[in-house]
Amino acid sequence: MEVGENTAAALEAATTFEELGLAPEILRALGDMGYSIPTPIQKQAIPLVLAGRDLMAQAQTGTGKTAAFALPLLQKMIPHANGSASPARHPVRALVLTPTRELAIQVHDSVVAYNKNLPLRSTVVFGGVDMKGQEADLRGGVEILVATPGRLLDHAGNKVAQLSQVQFLVLDEADRMLDMGFLPDLKRILNLLPTQRQTLLFSATFDDSIVGLARSFLRNPLKVEVARRNTAAELVEQVVHKVREDDKMDALLQVIKARGISQALVFTRTKIAADKLGRRLQKRGVQTGIIHGDKAQVERLAALDGFKQGKVQLLVATDIAARGIDIVELPCVFNFELPYAAEDYVHRIGRTGRAGSSGLAISLVSNEEERLLVAIRKFINRDLDEAPLPEIERPRPAAAAMPAALVEQPDAAQPDDAARPRMGRLRREPVCALLLPPIKPAQANQPA
Ligand code: AMP
Repeated sequence: MEVGENTAAALEAATTFEELGLAPEILRALGDMGYSIPTPIQKQAIPLVLAGRDLMAQAQTGTGKTAAFALPLLQKMIPHANGSASPARHPVRALVLTPTRELAIQVHDSVVAYNKNLPLRSTVVFGGVDMKGQEADLRGGVEILVATPGRLLDHAGNKVAQLSQVQFLVLDEADRMLDMGFLPDLKRILNLLPTQRQTLLFSATFDDSIVGLARSFLRNPLKVEVARRNTAAELVEQVVHKVREDDKMDALLQVIKARGISQALVFTRTKIAADKLGRRLQKRGVQTGIIHGDKAQVERLAALDGFKQGKVQLLVATDIAARGIDIVELPCVFNFELPYAAEDYVHRIGRTGRAGSSGLAISLVSNEEERLLVAIRKFINRDLDEAPLPEIERPRPAAAAMPAALVEQPDAAQPDDAARPRMGRLRREPVCALLLPPIKPAQANQPA
């Protein structure tokens, strides 16, 4: 599984999208999106995919991996592009499987943008929403289908999704698909595809189960990687604050204020913790969205949309729900709770510092989480700086003179909080003090 010498030489030389041999229609779309230089994974993967090779690509999220597979696949499908109204002239040729609905939507948005000057059709199918609209799209014929495994199997079982002409299969975030127990579904889907096809597997981490998956589903794959094994995103500044469990929310608000953080994604381990933290933040006047697997799809999309538009300052998310979230220039990620699986830490911090911009990942770590921190340090093979909480520079009025609304009150809904001493630094802030300018929305991903 080595990158061939010829290809390696070719990609050494290629520094622009033109040099990668992409068609003018695709180049124009990339120009419109403001992409000028291919990212390292794009430089490596595009020539290999164009050459017809199966690929095992180790690329963290944020490296530009979507374009790394979507651009050459679009290019390869150009000979089949046609404006015919007949569904038969638009069979599914490229199938992209993703672990979550959010990632599926994200990938499809990118495909739509890259494809905007070509008459190739695409759609996205995922669970949790009515099947009818998806069925109409599939019956009309699409060359590119982005799907989550379960819903795809539903459509295939109903004979609505016909997969017998698939030439290209992409397994995106394959490690996560295995984590989420999709292996049986993947095997079922693979049985519906022609054996003669090109398969591309993308994964942030490569453990033995991923290598096993590649062995069974890929043919003589080349391996490309843009980061060392299990390396956390290099561009991301990673900070650890040791905080008592009960003081975490105050610490979160304190760091946000002291650092002037405009928006952040805040990770909890469980849906219950996400709901609880989200509600407490909302009570404190912070515009907070919550996304996790138990939220209805429309709620998740509304929260994500509000976040992208800058209306929501903090988006509290569980690991699985956060997969696929792509916000250009997301400045900061908080680990409100460290993940149990060290590799989830890599996924989480990959949400910031995307495609070359620097990012910040702040972990609030309690004594009880010390062993998780040790595991993460070992996994990413890197020391994580521990720092004291940053102080907020502001005059402190005497307690007697402080307006009642700004003095900390025991929270009736949180009896566990009322009983304990508070951190004493950040007290109830006026709402406006926490609403800082929003980040730019994800222009690159607006559908064309
Ligand atoms: P991905 O890793 O595919 O999720 O991409 C991360 C982000 O980088 C997305 O917002 C992409 O639109 C953006 N991106 C991908 N490739 C490039 C590029 N060559 N130049 C600038 N931005 C890019």
